[in-house]
Amino acid sequence: MNQQLVLVIASTNSHKIREFRSMLKGLAHIDLLSLSDFPHYTPPEETGKSFEENAILKAKHAAKTLNRWVLADDSGLVVPALNGAPGIYSARYAGNEATDLENRRKLLGEMTHLIDEERNCFYECCIAMASPEGVKKTATGTCEGFLLSHDKGRDGFGYDSLFIKHGYHKSFAELGDSIKNRISHRRKALDKLMNLLELIHVPP
Ligand code: IMP
Repeated sequence: MNQQLVLVIASTNSHKIREFRSMLKGLAHIDLLSLSDFPHYTPPEETGKSFEENAILKAKHAAKTLNRWVLADDSGLVVPALNGAPGIYSARYAGNEATDLENRRKLLGEMTHLIDEERNCFYECCIAMASPEGVKKTATGTCEGFLLSHDKGRDGFGYDSLFIKHGYHKSFAELGDSIKNRISHRRKALDKLMNLLELIHVPP
Protein backbone atom coordinates (compact mmCIF):
# COMPACT_ATOMS: atom_id res chain seq x y z
CA MET A 1 0.00 0.00 0.00
CA ASN A 2 1.27 3.52 -0.83
CA GLN A 3 2.23 5.62 2.17
CA GLN A 4 0.87 9.15 2.55
CA LEU A 5 3.17 11.82 1.11
CA VAL A 6 3.87 14.82 3.32
CA LEU A 7 4.01 18.04 1.30
CA VAL A 8 5.09 21.26 3.02
CA ILE A 9 3.65 24.56 1.82
CA ALA A 10 6.64 26.87 2.19
CA SER A 11 4.71 29.77 3.66
CA THR A 12 3.45 31.09 6.97
CA ASN A 13 0.84 33.26 5.23
CA SER A 14 -2.39 31.82 6.66
CA HIS A 15 -4.41 33.03 3.64
CA LYS A 16 -2.15 31.34 1.10
CA ILE A 17 -2.10 28.18 3.22
CA ARG A 18 -5.91 28.14 3.43
CA GLU A 19 -6.23 28.59 -0.34
CA PHE A 20 -3.78 25.75 -1.05
CA ARG A 21 -5.48 23.46 1.49
CA SER A 22 -8.81 24.04 -0.19
CA MET A 23 -7.47 23.59 -3.75
CA LEU A 24 -5.53 20.41 -2.85
CA LYS A 25 -8.17 18.71 -0.74
CA GLY A 26 -9.01 16.25 -3.54
CA LEU A 27 -5.53 14.69 -3.37
CA ALA A 28 -6.10 12.04 -0.70
CA HIS A 29 -2.53 10.69 -0.84
CA ILE A 30 -1.05 14.04 0.25
CA ASP A 31 -0.87 15.31 3.83
CA LEU A 32 -0.27 19.05 3.91
CA LEU A 33 1.93 20.85 6.40
CA SER A 34 3.15 24.44 6.27
CA LEU A 35 6.07 26.40 7.69
CA SER A 36 3.83 27.17 10.68
CA ASP A 37 4.46 23.52 11.65
CA PHE A 38 8.22 24.19 11.72
CA PRO A 39 8.61 27.18 14.07
CA HIS A 40 12.43 26.89 14.13
CA TYR A 41 12.78 27.03 10.35
CA THR A 42 14.43 30.20 9.02
CA PRO A 43 13.40 31.01 5.42
CA PRO A 44 16.02 32.31 2.97
CA GLU A 45 16.15 35.96 1.95
CA GLU A 46 14.05 36.63 -1.15
CA THR A 47 16.85 37.98 -3.30
CA GLY A 48 15.47 36.82 -6.67
CA LYS A 49 14.69 39.26 -9.49
CA SER A 50 11.46 37.50 -10.54
CA PHE A 51 8.58 35.55 -9.02
CA GLU A 52 10.11 32.37 -10.45
CA GLU A 53 13.58 32.99 -8.99
CA ASN A 54 12.06 33.63 -5.55
CA ALA A 55 9.75 30.60 -5.72
CA ILE A 56 12.73 28.37 -6.62
CA LEU A 57 14.84 29.86 -3.86
CA LYS A 58 12.11 29.23 -1.25
CA ALA A 59 11.30 25.70 -2.47
CA LYS A 60 14.92 24.50 -2.71
CA HIS A 61 15.91 25.84 0.70
CA ALA A 62 12.88 24.44 2.53
CA ALA A 63 13.02 21.01 0.82
CA LYS A 64 16.71 20.58 1.63
CA THR A 65 16.49 21.90 5.21
CA LEU A 66 13.31 20.00 6.14
CA ASN A 67 14.12 16.92 4.03
CA ARG A 68 10.58 16.90 2.60
CA TRP A 69 8.68 17.59 -0.60
CA VAL A 70 7.85 21.29 -0.73
CA LEU A 71 5.52 23.57 -2.69
CA ALA A 72 6.58 27.24 -2.64
CA ASP A 73 4.55 30.13 -4.04
CA ASP A 74 5.91 33.56 -4.86
CA SER A 75 3.24 35.95 -6.00
CA GLY A 76 2.16 39.55 -6.22
CA LEU A 77 0.28 42.28 -8.01
CA VAL A 78 1.76 43.90 -11.13
CA VAL A 79 0.62 47.34 -12.34
CA PRO A 80 2.18 48.02 -15.76
CA ALA A 81 1.42 51.78 -15.51
CA LEU A 82 3.55 51.84 -12.33
CA ASN A 83 6.47 50.14 -14.11
CA GLY A 84 5.40 46.76 -12.73
CA ALA A 85 5.16 47.83 -9.07
CA PRO A 86 4.52 46.47 -6.51
CA GLY A 87 5.47 43.20 -8.30
CA ILE A 88 7.88 40.98 -6.39
CA TYR A 89 7.83 43.54 -3.58
CA SER A 90 4.05 43.23 -3.07
CA ALA A 91 4.31 41.89 0.49
CA ARG A 92 6.70 44.68 1.54
CA TYR A 93 5.58 47.55 -0.72
CA ALA A 94 5.11 49.98 2.17
CA GLY A 95 8.12 48.64 4.14
CA ASN A 96 9.57 45.38 5.41
CA GLU A 97 7.04 44.93 8.21
CA ALA A 98 4.10 46.51 6.36
CA THR A 99 0.57 45.21 6.85
CA ASP A 100 -1.79 44.46 3.95
CA LEU A 101 -3.68 47.67 4.79
CA GLU A 102 -0.49 49.77 4.67
CA ASN A 103 0.47 48.21 1.34
CA ARG A 104 -2.96 48.96 -0.13
CA ARG A 105 -2.80 52.56 1.14
CA LYS A 106 0.59 53.03 -0.48
CA LEU A 107 -0.75 51.62 -3.77
CA LEU A 108 -3.81 53.89 -3.64
CA GLY A 109 -1.45 56.86 -3.10
CA GLU A 110 0.69 55.90 -6.12
CA MET A 111 -2.40 55.36 -8.29
CA THR A 112 -4.21 58.68 -7.88
CA HIS A 113 -3.09 59.96 -11.33
CA LEU A 114 -3.98 56.71 -13.15
CA ILE A 115 -7.11 56.71 -15.32
CA ASP A 116 -8.99 54.18 -17.49
CA GLU A 117 -6.69 51.43 -18.88
CA GLU A 118 -3.82 52.70 -16.74
CA ARG A 119 -5.64 51.00 -13.86
CA ASN A 120 -5.23 47.60 -15.49
CA CYS A 121 -3.13 45.17 -13.50
CA PHE A 122 -2.58 41.48 -12.99
CA TYR A 123 -1.77 39.06 -10.24
CA GLU A 124 1.05 36.65 -10.94
CA CYS A 125 1.90 33.48 -9.06
CA CYS A 126 4.84 31.18 -9.61
CA ILE A 127 4.84 27.86 -7.78
CA ALA A 128 8.01 25.77 -7.48
CA MET A 129 7.88 22.14 -6.36
CA ALA A 130 10.99 20.58 -4.91
CA SER A 131 12.08 17.35 -3.30
CA PRO A 132 15.14 17.19 -1.02
CA GLU A 133 17.19 16.49 -4.21
CA GLY A 134 16.19 19.78 -5.84
CA VAL A 135 13.52 21.59 -7.85
CA LYS A 136 11.29 19.31 -9.94
CA LYS A 137 8.97 21.73 -11.69
CA THR A 138 7.79 25.35 -11.76
CA ALA A 139 4.57 26.81 -13.13
CA THR A 140 3.18 30.33 -13.46
CA GLY A 141 -0.40 31.60 -13.50
CA THR A 142 -1.73 35.11 -14.04
CA CYS A 143 -5.10 36.75 -13.42
CA GLU A 144 -5.85 40.01 -15.28
CA GLY A 145 -8.10 42.74 -13.95
CA PHE A 146 -8.22 46.36 -12.83
CA LEU A 147 -7.79 48.38 -9.68
CA LEU A 148 -10.52 50.10 -7.69
CA SER A 149 -9.90 53.44 -5.99
CA HIS A 150 -11.23 52.24 -2.64
CA ASP A 151 -11.51 48.94 -0.76
CA LYS A 152 -14.51 46.73 -1.54
CA GLY A 153 -15.23 43.54 0.42
CA ARG A 154 -13.88 41.87 3.53
CA ASP A 155 -12.65 38.44 2.40
CA GLY A 156 -9.33 37.58 0.83
CA PHE A 157 -6.02 39.23 1.71
CA GLY A 158 -3.33 41.51 0.31
CA TYR A 159 -4.73 43.59 -2.56
CA ASP A 160 -7.95 41.55 -3.02
CA SER A 161 -10.29 44.34 -1.90
CA LEU A 162 -8.86 46.58 -4.66
CA PHE A 163 -8.83 43.97 -7.45
CA ILE A 164 -11.61 43.20 -9.93
CA LYS A 165 -10.95 40.43 -12.43
CA HIS A 166 -11.92 41.34 -16.00
CA GLY A 167 -15.45 40.08 -16.70
CA TYR A 168 -16.50 40.30 -13.03
CA HIS A 169 -18.24 43.05 -11.07
CA LYS A 170 -17.15 42.10 -7.58
CA SER A 171 -13.68 42.38 -6.06
CA PHE A 172 -11.82 39.22 -5.03
CA ALA A 173 -12.59 40.23 -1.43
CA GLU A 174 -16.32 40.21 -2.23
CA LEU A 175 -16.29 36.99 -4.29
CA GLY A 176 -14.91 34.92 -1.40
CA ASP A 177 -12.50 31.99 -1.41
CA SER A 178 -14.64 29.40 -3.18
CA ILE A 179 -15.00 31.52 -6.34
CA LYS A 180 -11.50 33.03 -6.09
CA ASN A 181 -9.98 29.55 -5.84
CA ARG A 182 -11.57 28.59 -9.18
CA ILE A 183 -10.28 31.58 -11.16
CA SER A 184 -7.16 32.91 -9.45
CA HIS A 185 -3.53 33.16 -10.56
CA ARG A 186 -2.73 30.58 -7.83
CA ARG A 187 -5.32 28.14 -9.20
CA LYS A 188 -3.94 28.54 -12.75
CA ALA A 189 -0.37 27.83 -11.62
CA LEU A 190 -1.48 24.88 -9.49
CA ASP A 191 -3.47 23.34 -12.37
CA LYS A 192 -0.21 23.09 -14.36
CA LEU A 193 1.33 21.06 -11.52
CA MET A 194 -1.58 18.66 -11.00
CA ASN A 195 0.02 15.84 -13.02
CA LEU A 196 3.11 15.92 -10.84
CA LEU A 197 1.05 16.26 -7.64
CA GLU A 198 -1.07 13.25 -8.61
CA LEU A 199 2.00 11.13 -9.36
CA ILE A 200 4.37 11.89 -6.50
CA HIS A 201 4.51 9.26 -3.80
CA VAL A 202 6.76 8.04 -1.04
CA PRO A 203 9.24 5.45 -2.36
CA PRO A 204 8.51 1.97 -0.91
P1 IMP B 1 5.09 36.52 -1.10
O1 IMP B 1 4.56 35.84 0.12
O2 IMP B 1 6.49 37.02 -0.97
O3 IMP B 1 4.88 35.68 -2.32
O4 IMP B 1 4.22 37.85 -1.30
C1 IMP B 1 2.90 37.75 -1.65
C2 IMP B 1 2.24 39.12 -1.56
O5 IMP B 1 1.64 39.42 -2.83
C3 IMP B 1 1.11 39.11 -0.55
O6 IMP B 1 1.55 39.55 0.72
C4 IMP B 1 0.11 40.08 -1.17
O7 IMP B 1 0.47 41.39 -0.87
C5 IMP B 1 0.31 39.84 -2.67
N1 IMP B 1 -0.55 38.74 -3.16
C6 IMP B 1 -0.15 37.56 -3.71
N2 IMP B 1 -1.22 36.80 -4.02
C7 IMP B 1 -2.28 37.49 -3.66
C8 IMP B 1 -3.68 37.20 -3.71
O8 IMP B 1 -4.14 36.13 -4.12
N3 IMP B 1 -4.48 38.17 -3.24
C9 IMP B 1 -4.02 39.36 -2.75
N4 IMP B 1 -2.75 39.69 -2.66
C10 IMP B 1 -1.87 38.74 -3.11
